[in-house]
Amino acid sequence: MLEGRCISCGRGLVEEGYAQFPCPECGYIIKRCAICRSQVAVYKCPECGFEGP
Ligand SMILES: [Zn+2]
Ligand SMILES: [Zn+2]
Repeated sequence: MLEGRCISCGRGLVEEGYAQFPCPECGYIIKRCAICRSQVAVYKCPECGFEGP
C-alpha cells in the first residue's frame, strides 16, 4: 500500500490505479486516487496552491 492520501478527496490510496506526479510549480508529490483520476477532478497543491486538471 502506498502511503499518503488522495489530494482531491482525502481518501487513503489503497486501490490500484492511483496516480502521482510532481507539482509543476514546486515539485511537491501530488497523489490522486483512481476515482478522482477518472473523474478528472481538480487538484490543488498544498504547498504552493497551484490548481490543475
Ligand atoms: Zn480521490
Ligand atoms: Zn506546488
